[in-house]
Amino acid sequence: MSTLYTQKDHSKIPELEHRNFRNDDFWTKIPGWANITRGEFADFRWQSKNSIKKVDQVEKILGSRVTKEFMDDLRMGQKKTPMNIRITPYVFSLINWDDPLNDPLRKQFLPVGSQFLPDHPMDQEDSLGEDTDSPVPMLTHRYPDKVLFLPTTICPVYCSYCTRSRIIGGSTESVEKETYGANQKKWDDVFAYLARSPLVEDVVVSGGDAYMLTPAQIKYIGENLLKIPHIRRIRLATKGIAIFPQKVLTDDEWVGAVKEVHDLGRAFGKQVVIHTHFSSPNEITKWSQMAMDRLFSLGITVRNQAVLQEGVNNHVDEMVLLTRQLGFMNIQPYYVYMHDMVPGCEHLRTTLKEGEELEKAVRGTTAGFNTPTFVCDLPGGGGKRHIASYEYYDDENGISVWKAPYVKKDQMFLYFDPIHKLSEDAQKRWANEGDRNAMIEEAKKKA
Ligand code: SF4
Repeated sequence: MSTLYTQKDHSKIPELEHRNFRNDDFWTKIPGWANITRGEFADFRWQSKNSIKKVDQVEKILGSRVTKEFMDDLRMGQKKTPMNIRITPYVFSLINWDDPLNDPLRKQFLPVGSQFLPDHPMDQEDSLGEDTDSPVPMLTHRYPDKVLFLPTTICPVYCSYCTRSRIIGGSTESVEKETYGANQKKWDDVFAYLARSPLVEDVVVSGGDAYMLTPAQIKYIGENLLKIPHIRRIRLATKGIAIFPQKVLTDDEWVGAVKEVHDLGRAFGKQVVIHTHFSSPNEITKWSQMAMDRLFSLGITVRNQAVLQEGVNNHVDEMVLLTRQLGFMNIQPYYVYMHDMVPGCEHLRTTLKEGEELEKAVRGTTAGFNTPTFVCDLPGGGGKRHIASYEYYDDENGISVWKAPYVKKDQMFLYFDPIHKLSEDAQKRWANEGDRNAMIEEAKKKA
C-alpha cells in the first residue's frame, strides 16, 4: 500500500469531520496573548500590529513554551531562507507549539535550519519564466488570453514555498531583492499595455497579495481593468482568507472596495472573483467559515489554489479533509499545484508520483466540481498542465518531460522530483554531471 495512506497512525477521517470548525480561544495558549479577548483577536488592526516579523518576537511571545534548541534552529533557518518572516497571530497560535518541528503551519511559515536540503541542480529563481514572458514591468503575458499582474511585492504572511521568493517580502540574509511594496507609478503602463492587447480577457491580480492593497488601490486597479472593453474576468489573488480571516470580518473598508469592484464588474457583465490559498486543514477554523459566510453573502465567488507540500498536505486524509472543508465553506477547490522548482524549498517538494496518487485518491470523495485538479506549472514557462499529462515520466530517476503546444509550440519542458526521495542508485547518478545529462537526454528521446 502507498505510503500516502500509512505515514500517519490514524486511519480514514470520519465522514463528517469537515463540518467541525474549531471555535475555541486557541490564541490564549500562547503566553504573550493569554489575556487577549475574542474582540481584540477579531480586530484586523490588532492582527496586523501583532504579526511576528522577527525571530526574537517568537521567543518573546512564547516564553517557556519554546526550547532553546528550537530557537537556535529557527535562527539558523534565517541564514538560509530566501523569505523573511511574517506571520499573523491567527496562524502563529494555530501551530502546535508542543511539537513545532512537525507542525504543518510551522513548516509553511517558519523555516528552521535543520530542515533545509541542498537545492536541486535544476532549480531556478524564476522557475516559471515569469520575467522572460514579461512585456512590461509587473506583468507576465504567457497564455494568449490571460495575464498575471503583480502590483505589489508584500503579503500578510511570507510562505516558505513562495514561487516568487526572488521578489517578494524584501531582502534576506541569502537573497537580495530590488523592490518592496506597491509600485503604483508603474501600474498605468500595465493598463496601457492591456488596452492595446485585444486578445487578453483574463487578469490575475496577484503579487504579493491583494490583501496588502489599500481600498483605494483595489478600486483604482479594478476600475482601470474593468473599463478595458475586452477584459472579461478579474481574479484577485490573496492568501488572506486562509491566514488572516479577521480582515474580511472587520476591515469594512477593504471588503467594501472588493464588493464595489465586484458589483461594477457585474454591471458590465464581467466576473470579479477571489482566488485564495488554503493548503492545510489546520489553517481552517470557525473564523475562516465566518469570513467566507460574509463574502458569500456579498455574492463573491472564492476559489482555492493549494500547493502540495511534504509534511503539510501530502497525505490522503489531509487532502480529502481540506477538499471537503473548502467545499463546505463555499470555496471551490480549484487547483493543487506541484511545488515549483525554486531554491530553498527542496524539503517541501514531493514527487510527481505522489501527486498522481493523491489525485486518484481524492477524486470521488466529493462532487466533481468541488474536486481540485492537480497540476504542474512547468519550469521554463510552459504553463499549468494536468499532473498526468506528461509525455514521458522516468520515476526511477525523477524526470518528467512535457509539452505545451498551445503555449510554446515545439518546446519541451522538464520537471524533476526531489533527489532525496529517489533510490540510492538514482541519487548517485544525479551526483555525477555526466550521468545526469545522459539521463535527461534519454528521457527527452523517449518522450
Ligand atoms: S502569499 Fe503568495 S506571494 Fe505571498 S509569500 Fe505566500 S505564496 Fe508568496
